[in-house]
Amino acid sequence: MQCPKCGAMLTALSVEDVTVDKCQSCDGIWLEHGELEKLRETGVQGIEKQLEEEYGNPAAPMLALEGYLRCPHCVEIGLRTNYVSYMQPVKMDHCIQCFGMWLDKNELDKLLEDKKQLDNVKVDKGMRAMLAGIAKRFSK
Ligand SMILES: [Zn+2]
Ligand SMILES: [Zn+2]
Repeated sequence: MQCPKCGAMLTALSVEDVTVDKCQSCDGIWLEHGELEKLRETGVQGIEKQLEEEYGNPAAPMLALEGYLRCPHCVEIGLRTNYVSYMQPVKMDHCIQCFGMWLDKNELDKLLEDKKQLDNVKVDKGMRAMLAGIAKRFSK
């Protein structure tokens, strides 16, 4: 598959049990439908940094790109810009046909970090509810 941003060939890399397609030239990452959820479930943080350290940035063949951002998988389909957010919006480009998504450099890590923050808030709420329950019991 070809990078929708710069035209370099994407490299398939594995993170935990998930195979992502990364552009070694502009550092964007293509996730197929459902892969973001899988990555979130693993709870790993700093995936981009990890990939960089593990695989470095080997040169990839560059091909010419035509016009707008296209889905690397469906080719004929243009990507649409969208925002995904838990705590703060992160920009991504998604394909309306295969539901894959393109994340520019640092956007994947931002998304995963965002999810972690949300989980922390949830834990805080749970803790507060638990403490409130204990306080109630003692006040009786
Ligand atoms: Zn690229
Ligand atoms: Zn597509």
